[in-house]
Amino acid sequence: MLMLINGQRVPAASGKTFDNINPATGEVVCTVPAGEACDFERAALAAKAAQPAWADMPFYKRSEIIYKYTALVREHVEEIAQAACAEGGKRIDECRDEVLTLCMVFETFTEAAHHMYGNTIPLKAEARTENDIIFTVHEPLGTIVTITPFNFPIELYAHKVAPALITGNAVIAKPASDTPLATTMLTELLWEAGVPGGVMQLITGSGREIGKWLEETKLVDAVSFTGSTEVGSSLLASGAKEIRRTFLELGGNDPFVIFPDADLDLCVTEAIGGRAHNAGQVCCASKRYIVHESVKDAFAEKLVKALSALKLGNPADPANDMGPLINEKAAVAAMADIAHIIDQGATVLLGNKREGAYVWPTVLTDVSPENDVAKDLEVFAALFPIISFRTFDEALQIANQTSFGLASTVMTADMKTAMKFATKVQAGTCVINGTGDYRSVHQAFGGYKHSGLGREGTSTTLREVTQEKNIALKNILK
Ligand code: NAP
Repeated sequence: MLMLINGQRVPAASGKTFDNINPATGEVVCTVPAGEACDFERAALAAKAAQPAWADMPFYKRSEIIYKYTALVREHVEEIAQAACAEGGKRIDECRDEVLTLCMVFETFTEAAHHMYGNTIPLKAEARTENDIIFTVHEPLGTIVTITPFNFPIELYAHKVAPALITGNAVIAKPASDTPLATTMLTELLWEAGVPGGVMQLITGSGREIGKWLEETKLVDAVSFTGSTEVGSSLLASGAKEIRRTFLELGGNDPFVIFPDADLDLCVTEAIGGRAHNAGQVCCASKRYIVHESVKDAFAEKLVKALSALKLGNPADPANDMGPLINEKAAVAAMADIAHIIDQGATVLLGNKREGAYVWPTVLTDVSPENDVAKDLEVFAALFPIISFRTFDEALQIANQTSFGLASTVMTADMKTAMKFATKVQAGTCVINGTGDYRSVHQAFGGYKHSGLGREGTSTTLREVTQEKNIALKNILK
């Protein structure tokens, strides 16, 4: 595969490449250009040159291009989904869903952009402006760099690229090195639909390279990043020099709190639906199971039984429930995390087993609130650590003791308990009687504390990727 710079398909200037490996089979999926600072700078110069004309294009014409784009993507769902399945080890049906979600996200942002109204300041509100009319319009920021992780390569690309393009920005996309192929195909289709080659570009290569380049360049107006808190924090620091807007969607270690009156069968279905999804590699998956001591054993027993029935195997075969992790290194790291949690006193009820990049669903009980996993250790695998509590306040304290705050779950039949929890939990989302692995395109998705800065969704992103300009018609009423 090649990078997409200024309307051309090009290798890295250095000629360097790396192989992308299918984690389920070990086969090479594609050879990827290893872009470096000079490639990014070239793309950023092209973006600066191309963006003003894109911003000047009437909005309804940009909309037509986006609708043409989603029609094209719908014609290619299967090949894009197969690419995503091969490069990322994600179940094929989840990959197909992700491509269709991308179409919905682009169309929804385009529709929402039709309603990005400006403001008219009340007439004659103060003596010194009483003959003036002041109103506002939204203008694009300029060039936005989008950096996405491996776990939702298509959906997260959509959440960043769609609002940026429809509002007249230029975009340079940097996909995760583990999942560059599907997003390259999707970017080529944007060109085919009519987005100019300098307005939408894609560079592959190591995250460290783009990090180094962003520390130096003056050509980028905003960065929209989804990934780890560590990298997000470094991007915020490097953007400070340029007063660069930096939007961050970061990690999570989300609580799933079960009160004694909860429907335990529903708890198990929701817990597995959220945590086995994408083999446990989901930012907003519930990652800590905080269960009332009176129902802890019953929940654990039902959970183990249901998880034991899951089938692991090649994600290209829809008969399998779970595929591998993104690569063997990630699987080894997840097993090391599990060993660490056990060292700190947890008892294994199920799993704790790995083969290649596959990690079996693992249930740990007797997890103390002092265990690292009960606080800030985010494990990217289908791991269910069970921590027990006695009182509402204790459950809330454990839920909030993490530095993260992405999503949360409360399971109970009592809406008063649910609402009390939902209003006190420090998280960007609280789902009542459902997994925190939950995202609507319209909600303001994002995190408290170290889980991020800013929100993504049609209710907020369009304002984040634009700036509001005041226009004053001085003495027009005189
Ligand atoms: P990561 O290491 O931070 O990588 C994410 C992206 O950043 C990749 O494209 C990566 O490129 C790039 N990158 C790496 N180092 C960089 C640097 N120094 N400067 C600039 N970019 C850099 O994250 P991950 O471990 O793959 O992803 C999992 C994390 O993302 C978890 O913490 C998860 O919770 C979080 N996440 C959050 C959300 C959300 O919406 N809040 C959604 C999904 C995931 P390379 O691939 O080339 O290294």
